[in-house]
Amino acid sequence: MTAEVVLLDFGGTLDADGVHWSPRFHMAYRAEGGTLDLAAFDSFFKLSDQALARLPGIAALGFRAAIETQARLLDEVLPAGARVNPAAVARRLHGEALAVVQRNRPVLERLARRYRLGVVSNFTGNLQPCLDELGLARLFAAVTDSAVVGWSKPDPRIFLGALATLAAGPERAWMVGDNFEADIRGAAALGMRTCWLAPPERALPPRAGAAEGEAQVPTARIARFVDVERVLA
Ligand SMILES: [Mg+2]
Repeated sequence: MTAEVVLLDFGGTLDADGVHWSPRFHMAYRAEGGTLDLAAFDSFFKLSDQALARLPGIAALGFRAAIETQARLLDEVLPAGARVNPAAVARRLHGEALAVVQRNRPVLERLARRYRLGVVSNFTGNLQPCLDELGLARLFAAVTDSAVVGWSKPDPRIFLGALATLAAGPERAWMVGDNFEADIRGAAALGMRTCWLAPPERALPPRAGAAEGEAQVPTARIARFVDVERVLA
């Protein structure tokens, strides 16, 4: 059946080629002189994630403000000897993400002429202002933020809600994302076609691939978002 709809993840998919927020923050942190390794850093990053989600006014924060705020919240929980300048971390991270978004925007513009597009993201309630700030909002006919709708990927209800808005069944839709459990397994369980965005060195999780008589999961794999057009064609 011809696909009419493409659902896309946001973080790590539209703003980085399959690299999650925590390692991206960590790279920026190290580049600014931070000493923690990724494993140690990640536990503090998770605390900053939770603090960001609880922040009063989070729903209004745009992309840059959200990064700056998270860098500040992270700085507040880091051990005294392991802190760096949070504004510098935020500036570096924002610049890198913005460059990737700008590279991806023409791809999304072309896709929007051929498909109805939706974003389905496990986010913090401010996905819409982030998309507005990045000049992407007009390309999406459905914007689904887990903190707004109350379901998170891989819960089927979050995908089905977006598909209902776009008036398409799962058999007419692709899901493109970088998180195998949330994006790929969640969408594949509904019968959607799936495109996994992951660096080449990332191993396919166990139990992926095709069981006998079942569809291949993921349907396709790409290392850079710009290759999505070739896969969908
Ligand atoms: Mg993601």
